[in-house]
Amino acid sequence: MGENSVMQIESGVSLKPYNTFGLPALAHQFVRVRSEADVRAVVDHPSFGRAPKFILGGGSNIVLTRDVQPLVLKVEVPGARLLEARPDAFIVEAGAGENWHDFVAWTIAQGWPGLENLALIPGTVGAAPVQNIGAYGVELQERFESLDAVDLMTGRTVTLTREMCHFGYRDSVFKHALAGKSVIVRVRFRLPRPWKPVLGYLEIARRQAESGIAEPDAMQVFDWVCAIRRAKLPDPAQVGNAGSFFKNPLVSEVQCRDIIGRDPEVVHYPLPDGSIKLAAGWMIDACGWKGKSVGRAGVYEKQALVLVNRGGAIGAEVVTLARAIQESVYGRFGIRLEPEPVML
Ligand SMILES: Cc1cc2nc3c(=O)[nH]c(=O)nc-3n(C[C@H](O)[C@H](O)[C@H](O)COP(=O)(O)OP(=O)(O)OC[C@H]3O[C@@H](n4cnc5c(N)ncnc54)[C@H](O)[C@@H]3O)c2cc1C
Repeated sequence: MGENSVMQIESGVSLKPYNTFGLPALAHQFVRVRSEADVRAVVDHPSFGRAPKFILGGGSNIVLTRDVQPLVLKVEVPGARLLEARPDAFIVEAGAGENWHDFVAWTIAQGWPGLENLALIPGTVGAAPVQNIGAYGVELQERFESLDAVDLMTGRTVTLTREMCHFGYRDSVFKHALAGKSVIVRVRFRLPRPWKPVLGYLEIARRQAESGIAEPDAMQVFDWVCAIRRAKLPDPAQVGNAGSFFKNPLVSEVQCRDIIGRDPEVVHYPLPDGSIKLAAGWMIDACGWKGKSVGRAGVYEKQALVLVNRGGAIGAEVVTLARAIQESVYGRFGIRLEPEPVML
């Protein structure tokens, strides 16, 4: 067992308060990890060391369909500090258990802007690199310096650079080779100096035009992003959800032309690499799903990409609804939508 760690394993813990969808499920075994030593204590434990594990942050990107058999490691590593004020960037570090939005707000208040477009995304700092969170024209990888993670086989802490994380669209090495194998304990961010606002996203540009502010500061952009998100996304504290339920599919130009031939209205964005991103929410809406329900799971009225818990839903209802949506989108567009949250 690690030096400064007293490991407390809890049994039969309800995970309902720990997932933003508000789905019911029990963790057979549950342990909170507040430090690297805590993770090592789990790895070195005679009976839990080799047992399968599930790493839990804020539970805002998971769908619980049953009780969780693996040992749940709830990551609660605290702390945030400025590591370096370089001429070209502020290097800021945060513990994986910090709340993402609070961390973003804190960096801006300290005068280290750069994360404002990613305001109000639920969850923890430690989960942010897992799917390379992104919103309103900025992805985590553009502000990422490095991270420390504890290997669940060896108990050793390794540092991963940006290249080693293999970031992609809502993707990283933590969804592939390192999935479930490595607990991120600290993340470091590189916030470029001089700061330049990212205002290209349509809704931000609209807010800016309305306000007449030619040169907004980071706090202003932060406020716009929060206002836009509050207007169109359900607050998990009121309506259970996991944000965007499906990834926006990437298709080739030929595929896209074929779809446009049949559905001229399809919302699509050309990407620098020549592929085209289709708006999954538009496709779901086009199939008539907005506002519909299957059992106690439903499609959010204001945004068809978000599935919601209408009250008392279980994971199986969410999965049934998701499958029905996938089938109708496939039937009409020939595209198989891929869920964004992790299904358990
Ligand atoms: C209302 C709403 C809006 C959202 N908007 C966005 C958005 O704009 N952009 C976006 O990208 N996402 C968005 N999301 C999705 C979600 O907020 C992010 O994916 C977030 O980073 C998940 O953090 P979490 O701590 O809740 O992770 P969890 O849901 O707890 O875990 C997600 C995955 O990460 C793994 N994981 C968690 N912590 C660690 C760790 N420390 N080390 C290793 N693996 C770990 C888990 O095992 C799991 O596989 C939204 C969700 C909601 C509910």
